[in-house]
Amino acid sequence: EVSLFWFRRDLRLEDNAGLYFALESKYPVIPLFIFDEDILDSLPKNDARVGFIHECLSNININLNTFGSSLLIKKGKTQEIWKQLIEEYTIKAVFYNKDYEPYAISRDLAVAEFLASKNIASFPYKDQVIFEELEITKADGLPYTVYTPYKNKWLEKYTLNKPVKEYNCEVLLSNFYKSDYIFPTLEQIGFEENTIKVKPHNLTQISNYQETRDFPAMDTTSYLSPHLRFGTVSIRKLVNWAANKNQVFLSELIWREFFMQILFYFPKVVSHNFKSAYDGIQWRNNEDDFKRWCTGTTGYPMVDAGMRQLNETGYMHNRVRMVVASFLCKHLLINWQWGEAYFAEKLLDYELSANVGNWQWAAGTGCDAAPYFRVFNPEIQLKKFDEKGIYIRKWIPEFDLGYGEPMVEHAFARDRAIATYKAGILK
Ligand code: FAD
Repeated sequence: EVSLFWFRRDLRLEDNAGLYFALESKYPVIPLFIFDEDILDSLPKNDARVGFIHECLSNININLNTFGSSLLIKKGKTQEIWKQLIEEYTIKAVFYNKDYEPYAISRDLAVAEFLASKNIASFPYKDQVIFEELEITKADGLPYTVYTPYKNKWLEKYTLNKPVKEYNCEVLLSNFYKSDYIFPTLEQIGFEENTIKVKPHNLTQISNYQETRDFPAMDTTSYLSPHLRFGTVSIRKLVNWAANKNQVFLSELIWREFFMQILFYFPKVVSHNFKSAYDGIQWRNNEDDFKRWCTGTTGYPMVDAGMRQLNETGYMHNRVRMVVASFLCKHLLINWQWGEAYFAEKLLDYELSANVGNWQWAAGTGCDAAPYFRVFNPEIQLKKFDEKGIYIRKWIPEFDLGYGEPMVEHAFARDRAIATYKAGILK
């Protein structure tokens, strides 16, 4: 008789809520990870994120081996795997951490219903966020759609419970089921190594975050995003630490939760404008223009450097993400969904809620978005945030040899964008 703990986007043994409750329960715990074919089949064989997941799982497995335990790795369609698992083991309970994306919600519901039909209880836990679902709402019980009041309520609630409770699993690690399952290689799960790798996170310069974060050449942001995406760090530990270090940095972590709750309450944002009044915008959606944007050959150095950084490393600095996103939507009048999809393919930190939320912000179609008539000037952005051209020279080595003409003149593009938006916004 065993319990199962199902790892998904919480790839760590420390301060893991669902894992803690599994290990505290009555039965020895089998730690499980499923490589879900419904997700994997659409990815290229060298997807760097799959490589990262594999590496994180390998580290967990090595750690478990010291307790005479090991990770059970399965690959297939989730429902089929669960059917196999209940044949293979006498499962008394299944523990996991909640995931708020639409696909995950329906997957977890189907698994929980299947387990219930076999008289197996499942126990979902909040782990990915400090506050979820109904915990932060307006006085009338409805969700916030504007960031600042959301943040104020979040901080008020956090301050009352500060520091949030952490779940110290380390003391319980001997409660895993004893096993020596074979850990598959990346090739055995059908993937191959990529030279693009996730960087370790770095919190050494966070005390000056507000002064340095907007300058891409300084490279002082935390690089936490892929780690938060896959749960190799605990948001509770991070927030408890950040709350005493830097309020501006803390507020970025609150943006993350803001967009997560927007996605939870308004799942339509994945494929529709949050503001449906913007549905009438006549995007140009020119394929050749899109190609120039993707390849970093627009003639605007800040845009091109950003896209090349993304293509070469799977990462782009936040300030530059804002510039390239605005350029695509406003200067080129390409639907934000094209840019969102390209980022989703390339970003190591790709997070549905943050990607959709920020793209809609840039396009002006989102909740609490930049007003449509505010059009970033990529040249002024460059002067302000990379005055000496250090960032652009890093990603555009040929820059000093004379850089090509911009593909579209700024003043023209700006007027065209404003006119197109104005004409398209439904009254
Ligand atoms: P830091 O500045 O050190 O921030 C710390 C953490 O705060 C980040 O890791 C992230 O979890 C959170 N955070 C910071 N800014 C934001 C933000 N604007 N929205 C939500 N969370 C934030 N972030 C993603 O994690 N995944 C995405 O797919 C993603 N797509 C984006 C698309 C566009 C068009 C834009 C403008 C921004 C996007 N961001 C996304 C937000 C932001 O750019 C990244 O989180 C940040 O650059 C990651 O680097 P960092 O960890 O060093 O950031």
